[in-house]
Amino acid sequence: MTKEEILRQLYGYDSFRPGQEELIEAVLGGRDVFGIMPTGAGKSVCYQVPALLLPGITLVVSPLISLMKDQVTALNQMGVHAAYLNSSLTMNQYLKALQLAKRGQYKLIYVAPERLLTESFLDFARFADISLLAVDEAHCVSQWGQDFRPSYLKIQEFVRMLPRRPVMAAYTATATRAVRDDCIAMLGLINPFVKTTGFDRANLYFEVRQPADKDKELLTILDKHREESGIIYCATRKNVEEICDKLIREGYRATRYHAGLTDAERARNQEDFLYDVSPVMVATNAFGMGIDKSNVRYVVHYNMPKNMESYYQEAGRAGRDGEPAVCILLYSGQDVVTNQYFIEHARENDELDEHELAIVKDQDHKRLRQMTAYCFTEDCLRSYILRYFGEEAVESCGNCGSCCGDFEAQDVTDSAMALLRMVWESGGRYGAQVLMDALRGSSAQKVKQFGLDRLSGYGALRGMPVHMLRKVLHKLYGMQLLKQQGDPYPVVKITPEGKELLLEEVPVRFTVQVEKKEKTAQKKTKGSMAAGEAESSLFEALRSLRMALARAQGVPPYLVFSDKTLTDMCRKLPENKEEMLAVTGVGEKKFELYGESFLEEIQKYREKDSAVE
Ligand code: ADP
Ligand code: ZN
Repeated sequence: MTKEEILRQLYGYDSFRPGQEELIEAVLGGRDVFGIMPTGAGKSVCYQVPALLLPGITLVVSPLISLMKDQVTALNQMGVHAAYLNSSLTMNQYLKALQLAKRGQYKLIYVAPERLLTESFLDFARFADISLLAVDEAHCVSQWGQDFRPSYLKIQEFVRMLPRRPVMAAYTATATRAVRDDCIAMLGLINPFVKTTGFDRANLYFEVRQPADKDKELLTILDKHREESGIIYCATRKNVEEICDKLIREGYRATRYHAGLTDAERARNQEDFLYDVSPVMVATNAFGMGIDKSNVRYVVHYNMPKNMESYYQEAGRAGRDGEPAVCILLYSGQDVVTNQYFIEHARENDELDEHELAIVKDQDHKRLRQMTAYCFTEDCLRSYILRYFGEEAVESCGNCGSCCGDFEAQDVTDSAMALLRMVWESGGRYGAQVLMDALRGSSAQKVKQFGLDRLSGYGALRGMPVHMLRKVLHKLYGMQLLKQQGDPYPVVKITPEGKELLLEEVPVRFTVQVEKKEKTAQKKTKGSMAAGEAESSLFEALRSLRMALARAQGVPPYLVFSDKTLTDMCRKLPENKEEMLAVTGVGEKKFELYGESFLEEIQKYREKDSAVE
């Protein structure tokens, strides 16, 4: 078979995505490769296809148990023999799998890095014919990356212990230069073919909102996605708990995930999400590494994450099937404060000395500022993201909050300056509320008690709605001109940059985003029903059928067929095997498993349809 035939017959895809073909060719030609591709770009195809074409076994090193299981299930569904070796297996299961591996039963073996140097695994590996060693999430080998795993350092040692060095292929979604160089060095790649593919995910719609009431805003968003699957990321466990409870009360089938739950609860909730038993997941950033659920139609960030890398990775879990999906971030100034706290109180990494620690913190603060700037930019959000990751970008993408313009900039320079002056004049000793009261000319008791009514700024912003003033305040936090300090009674202080701005009267224009009076037509984001081309009743019928088949097989529905595949069926209305195979995502094996059932369902729909006519 050729690689094209594999892609068509096994995966049911028409063509390779950008970068895939070159990376596959290089591996087949015996060259090490390093692929840098965003989440959802299709890294697994880059090593699975060569795995099927090479004579020997392909080992895939992956840090994530859930991902291994998912991929192995997906491969088995396509009729490929694959297995995983990690701590989720009992000793017996593990030995059994190794035995089958020795007999050459598997083309692909997923293995956790900490297994590599164990006696039993080496005993197998030394005598096996290993053609390719693929390293998934390769940035885990780098201490500059965010998910450093010391066990990844063993990979190079493992390779040295093999009688014959296999081709090595590493893949990651982390693109910074430092991480990239580190990966190549620490994995010992030899003159690798390096390919960075576009970070753009054209099907994702990006937006930032600064609502006065996040809960209300969240419900508004979710209401447009009633039947769809989505993820809501929160900064803290407490938020996760509260929001999940709230959504359940509102009638959503929601579940939760954070580090405070037991292993069993986490596993069950994740399973419920994958199987669409609970299509809505409320979670901290502990959730999602390696989650390959393709039909996630929205990712809402209830809090701003600590940097763009985290944001793009988390948001990128939406729309992995390539269908339209939305990524909305709900910003408030408090998010900056929370993240600053996290950075300052990060659990110390004892491998770092004081100097190194200071550098890391500095970097973290810088990244946080860039994340905050994303929330305030009036430029195209997609181009902001792409430039951040070092890519060229167009001025205006036409598919983000800035480009689609539900919001417009309002000049708030005067009130921003008044706020800064008030904080400065009053000596940084008071809380946000009383300061805003004073600016608005309130006769509240505290204002008088603290003597704020005698300051020149008293009443300077009379008549300004408090939610607007709060927005300005949060903007100033975000720009790190003001900061909150103190626990449990935080006071507002001016930062050195804030002072500089006041003293030197640097001319700056401050704006905040406010919702346009007349909202432009709501963007159509019913992803699965793109452009209304497909009949929604048929889609629903196919979706139920998929659910039933998935249940019977004990696999997640999206592993039966993706939303994209169902949508394509609705468009093409295949009548026979040949036509069904032309649907994206339907390969030979999948057709054997499910093709007839889906053809029948479509036939039923067609009859019903013509009966009405
Ligand atoms: P990641 O790069 O995050 O590891 P995956 O390998 O999980 O991404 O792929 C994301 C999704 O894209 C999967 O559902 C996969 O089957 C699909 N995909 C990969 N390659 C192609 C292709 N050439 N055509 C269509 N879909 C593809
Ligand atoms: Zn845009």
